[in-house]
Amino acid sequence: ATPTSIMVGTGKSAETGILFKGGEHLERTHQLDAVIMDKTGTITKGKPEVTDFTGDTDTLQLLASAEKGSEHPLAEAIVAYATEQDMKMVDADAFEAIPGQGIKATIAGKDVLVGNRKLMDEHGVQVDAAADLESYESDGKTAMLVAVNSEYQGMIAVADTIKETAGEAIQKLHDQGLEVVMMTGDNERTAQAIARQAGIDQVIAEVLPEEKADKVKDVQNQDKKVAMVGDGINDAPALAVADTGIAIGTGTEVAIEAADVTILGGELLLIPKAIQISQATIRNIR
Ligand code: ADP
Ligand code: MG
Repeated sequence: ATPTSIMVGTGKSAETGILFKGGEHLERTHQLDAVIMDKTGTITKGKPEVTDFTGDTDTLQLLASAEKGSEHPLAEAIVAYATEQDMKMVDADAFEAIPGQGIKATIAGKDVLVGNRKLMDEHGVQVDAAADLESYESDGKTAMLVAVNSEYQGMIAVADTIKETAGEAIQKLHDQGLEVVMMTGDNERTAQAIARQAGIDQVIAEVLPEEKADKVKDVQNQDKKVAMVGDGINDAPALAVADTGIAIGTGTEVAIEAADVTILGGELLLIPKAIQISQATIRNIR
């Protein structure tokens, strides 16, 4: 590899919004076998909105008050929804986020749980709503269950749409001969529905934040060179472990710092573009 051609390649990349941290990352990107992509904020726009709520007003007030303490995009969607309904939220007396499951709070002397099946199971809450839950999930929505004092009170479903160019970008990656895998903490059914919309046939769902890097290593251990694409704090260790870590420019600073390259504006078409520029650069060198 001549330093000049690498410089030309990184310069050309930068012009299109692909910011490599150094020439060695551009070189490494030409020989990838698989691309693992985070779901929320990477494949989807990361701006979830509440679409359905099955509980009563008191439950909404408790659940929105509880979510006020969370920084999760799901929480922001719920608080925005309650605010639109002129709901007055109150401060929690206690709050705890449970990674990969949801939240637990004490509001006005009541124990409030908001999260997935696992959260309810672990707190012994009986949920009699499997059909509703599965129907939301089959639509690609994330449905969160709500319990007050260990009694199930309803669910709140949130939808996040995939980016306009997601399907085209993934098609291009497939055309380049790459495997594309979606990785998410969300449940299997929702993950499959979103993956289908984006044209992705491999899904790793229900991954805990601390497991993401290990999943990347699993694929590397199959003797594959792996790119990881992500935007969240959760994604940072996986971005660091990957052969090429690709951060979404609209994502967190932590992800951008951990990655080898950043794509501006979160435009997914810049991923196949980066690979194309890298391959062209290496081809000219050899
Ligand atoms: P991801 O960032 O990939 O969506 P997370 O690990 O952050 O995954 O969350 C996994 C699941 O945990 C969510 O799909 C949701 O069911 C539940 N969860 C996480 N945070 C919250 C929250 N603030 N309120 C309710 N549920 C939550
Ligand atoms: Mg994300």
